[in-house]
Amino acid sequence: MTANLSQKHEFQTEVKQLLNIVINSLYTEREVFLRELISNASDALEKIRYLQITSQDILYPHLELDIRLETDAETHTLSITDTGVGMTQEELIENLGTIAHSGSKQFLQSLSEGLSSDLNLIGQFGVGFYSAFMAAQKVTVHTRSYQPDAQGYIWESDGIGEYTIAEAPDLPRGTRIILTLKDDAHSFSEKDTVTRIIKQYSSFVPYPILVNGEKVNTIQAIWTKNKNEIQDEEYTEFYKFLANAYDEPFLRLHFSAEAPLSINALLFLPQDNFERYGFGRTEPGVNVYCKKVLIMEHAKDILPEWLRFVKGIIDSEELPLNISRETMQDSALVAKINRVVTKQLLKYLEDTADSEPERYREFWGKFNMFLKEGAASDATHREPLTRLLRFTSSQTEPEQWTSLPDYVSRLPEGQEEIYYINGPSRETIQASPYLEAFRDKQIEVLFTYDPIDDYIFNMLGMFDGKRLVSADQAELNLPGEAVTTEKEPLSAEALSDFAQWLKDVLQDKVSEVRASARLVESPAIVLNPHTSYSMQRMMQLMHKDTFPSAPGILEINDRHPIIHRLNAMRSTDAEFAQLAAEQLLENAQIAAGLILDPRTMVQRLNTILEKALNLS
Ligand code: ADP
Ligand code: MG
Repeated sequence: MTANLSQKHEFQTEVKQLLNIVINSLYTEREVFLRELISNASDALEKIRYLQITSQDILYPHLELDIRLETDAETHTLSITDTGVGMTQEELIENLGTIAHSGSKQFLQSLSEGLSSDLNLIGQFGVGFYSAFMAAQKVTVHTRSYQPDAQGYIWESDGIGEYTIAEAPDLPRGTRIILTLKDDAHSFSEKDTVTRIIKQYSSFVPYPILVNGEKVNTIQAIWTKNKNEIQDEEYTEFYKFLANAYDEPFLRLHFSAEAPLSINALLFLPQDNFERYGFGRTEPGVNVYCKKVLIMEHAKDILPEWLRFVKGIIDSEELPLNISRETMQDSALVAKINRVVTKQLLKYLEDTADSEPERYREFWGKFNMFLKEGAASDATHREPLTRLLRFTSSQTEPEQWTSLPDYVSRLPEGQEEIYYINGPSRETIQASPYLEAFRDKQIEVLFTYDPIDDYIFNMLGMFDGKRLVSADQAELNLPGEAVTTEKEPLSAEALSDFAQWLKDVLQDKVSEVRASARLVESPAIVLNPHTSYSMQRMMQLMHKDTFPSAPGILEINDRHPIIHRLNAMRSTDAEFAQLAAEQLLENAQIAAGLILDPRTMVQRLNTILEKALNLS
């Protein structure tokens, strides 16, 4: 080309401003220019394919549809060539000299006002081509339109103020963009660097991408294929690539939706939960694509945080090619995708639990912490999540799980509550006085070993129209007959005297002393009038040290021999009776799982022991 054949053109004012920023800014992620140029090439090929399908006349109809990159570390150049639709002279001026798209001016304004320094946004506003100037001091575009009588042209610019266009004979169809790299951008003329970047951003571009003749994108974007055309091995290969995994995925979900949004999602649940082993917080594992071009890796807001263990991709052509982490957070579209995909996932888990209970059980064993986290923190999905929770109960075998819906399905006529109780282990719970009445009346109680379970139940309040009630709650109205026992109770008068005496002895340590209708084997029980003891224990855990326990209600079993003897002893040995009363209370508090001061108790127990030994 000789200079005198080329015509000078001035960039539109907005383009000048944009280029000024692009050229003079410091970038953290300037390698994104490659994604932009490759996505333009892919678009141009897509247009050719469309023209071919609609059988229109095109120049060189038999050209291979591909994208070829050549790096030259000697001359510090990088070229990107496609066999796509190319551009006519008018199109060159229109596309590479002006900003036509709406919204791009707004982007420009935010850039120039320093509101956003995120040049990664560049493609979102239909100005991705100009990002070439992040890395290039000069950009040369050879292009020839697909139209049968089209001429070839060369466009060239250093990005400052103007560009030239010259005619060029004998160009093949399509576009070649040659970047003469800036001094500090020479790495983009190295094959390895370019290959790495393409693998990262453009692995699933649907046309072959070759770097110096070698094909780089070898893994297919299988999520766009029909489900029944994909082999299991293909899924596994894809998962390994995506998750950097060596094993097979544990479960997978592949679905597409057209309405209300066009989405393709391929999601995997891994074999293992590394957070469980203390590996630190798992990073979100879902990458977001727009028409097979990566727009965000490990995207944070595309799924709720509690689904961070899920690996996979979500592709929506409605997403802008370039969206920043900040914009994702407040994007209504992203929120919508999030809801649609989460709903599908929850449904899938529920279906798996129904159709493959063993598999779900295994999943539950490893990943339950995430579902519990979701049920505790995510009000939007709490209801479906609670159906996925699993528990053991007073009715199940030790290793057998049950669920809230199962519990409800077993409810006898007239029972309107779902009962649960928290404790450190099955054995502890089963030995606890709180369970006595339930065992006696054969009412099922769910066992929760995790304080977060009780927290979730508190947040829920109800499930399926049934109230969730902690079995250690002070006011219980258990259905059925009173607790059965053959032993005689104290007379009403004796009971009232004895209760008064206990209250006098224990003073502020209890708020009330009363007869119990819920005890069978134990002499006494403490009840928290305000909350359940499981919640109180959780507070104690959270506050690390002893959380001052409010005085509880002391309920006594007036058919129990200890109570009868104690009642008799208060007139014969008041001093000993007082010690025994104090110990009675503390025993009940220990059974409630409360943290007590062991020193005073050991002293008291020694005194009691001494007396008992003297007696014999
Ligand atoms: P966008 O891709 O969002 O339209 P760009 O700034 O990336 O914005 O590109 C501007 C326009 O330039 C494209 O819409 C397209 O018409 C044209 N263009 C860019 N690269 C190519 C190419 N390789 N082949 C054909 N046309 C291209
Ligand atoms: Mg583009």
